[in-house]
This record gives sequence, C-alpha cells and structure tokens, in this order.
Amino acid sequence: MISATRPSAVKIARRGLMLVISSPSGAGKSTIAGNLLKEDKGLSLSVSVTTRTRRPSEIDGVHYDFVSVREFERLRDSDALLEWAEVHGNYYGTPREAAEVAMAEGRDMLFDIDWQGAQQLQDKMSADVVSIFVLPPTMAELQSRLHRRAEDTEEVIATRLANSRSEIEHWREYDYIVLNDDLQRAFASVQAIVEAERLRRDRRPGLFDFVNGLLTEEPEL
Ligand code: ADP
Ligand code: 5GP
Repeated sequence: MISATRPSAVKIARRGLMLVISSPSGAGKSTIAGNLLKEDKGLSLSVSVTTRTRRPSEIDGVHYDFVSVREFERLRDSDALLEWAEVHGNYYGTPREAAEVAMAEGRDMLFDIDWQGAQQLQDKMSADVVSIFVLPPTMAELQSRLHRRAEDTEEVIATRLANSRSEIEHWREYDYIVLNDDLQRAFASVQAIVEAERLRRDRRPGLFDFVNGLLTEEPEL
C-alpha cells in the first residue's frame, strides 16, 4: 500500500516558501498558525519584533521579541527589518536575517503579519510569497473571540474591533481566503494550501535535474 505520508526517497531541490497569514485581530490566525507549526516540522515561525506589551500567555523570544520603541527604531533604521508597520498603535517588524537565511536554505517560513507587512513582502519577494487571509464567520463572533481570548484590556479590544473593518477590506490582495468558522476545517484548508504550493513546478528547480535523469536512464532489458 502506498501511504500518503511515506517519506519519498527521491529528494528534489526546491525553494522555500514564505507563508503569510493575516486576519483582523481575533479571527484565529495565530491559533491556525500555532497548529500548523506543531504539525508541520518543515515550517518555522518568523519571530517578529514588537513594541507591544507582552500578553500573559506569551514568551519573549518565542512568540515575539519584545523591544522598546528606541530599540525598534534602531533595528528599522539599520535596515535589519524586512518589513515593518504600525498596527493598533504599536510597532511590529520582521527581522531580515532569519527570513533570508531560511529562504536561501530552501526552508519554509510562516509570517503572522498584517496587510501592510504582506504588501511589503509581496513587493520585495513576490515569487516566494503565498498569502492567506483568514475571515471570521461574523463580526459578532469576532468580538466574542476577542473577549474569550481574555488577554487584552477592554480598551485594546475596542481599538482592534474598530480597526477590523479596514483590515478586512484588504482581503482581495491575498492568494487564498480561509473562512474560520470551524477551526478543524479552516486548519485543513491551510494545510492543503501549503501542500499544493510546495508542489508547484516553479518552486522546484531540482526538477530539471530529476527529469533529465529520468530521460537519460537506460531501460533495463
Ligand atoms: P488572531 O491571532 O487572529 O488575533 P487568535 O488565534 O488569538 O486570533 O484567536 C482568537 C480567539 O478565538 C482565541 O481564544 C482562539 O482560541 C479562538 N478561536 C480561534 N478559532 C476559533 C474557531 N474556529 N471557533 C471558535 N474559537 C476560535
Ligand atoms: P498581535 O498584537 O495580536 O500579536 O498582532 C497584531 C497585528 O500585528 C496582527 O495583525 C499581526 O499579524 C500583526 N503583526 C505581528 N507581527 C508583525 C510583523 O512583524 N509585521 C507586521 N507588518 N505585522 C505584524
């Protein structure tokens, strides 16, 4: 029997992909991203730097590198960030080095960033970017998820809700749209997207050698 998960003995060199996931706050992109990172060992998280205050459940250096505004500005001004944006009144940015090393080594990286960051990566590295926008089923559910998460103050939740409509308006700029009504279904959709994008011909330069090898193989008589 051929198993779908059986590792292939044939290795074909390929480029890494930059998986960008965005959504209005509370739609569930970090939950989906977290599940994906647990299940898919070929994917690593781009750990952003931010000036936002750490949430109780977050670990410095794992979820974000929490920095002062002064340190953020130093990183930004020394070109150490691949992209950066102000979101909900705080600065966020993607460290350049980790992402460039991952791409050079053909490793896949996940970026949990907003639409402004997605636009910047799309402009700079469009061939490598695969972008997904996660939508909530209703605005009422978005609001209850922000409350149920119970990690932000009422004031912070209000700011995020107020910004959610203008964030959703950017949905057309993404390659894929995933509706996060049922978490398992949304997660399965994201897994399917990653699987298919990894098989794209233009992401697998090793196919040239592989196919040449196939065509020069002497038939066994
Ligand atoms: P985001 O990263 O988009 O701001 P989170 O991933 O933190 O959102 O999710 C916000 C809250 O909603 C969390 O408490 C999470 O457990 C919950 N959540 C995520 N997806 C679903 C879903 N499909 N149904 C119900 N709750 C969900
Ligand atoms: P949160 O404060 O909820 O962790 O994130 C707030 C928003 O900032 C989310 O939309 C998240 O995707 C975005 N974000 C997180 N890191 C980055 C980053 O490095 N760059 C950009 N542009 N947005 C980010």
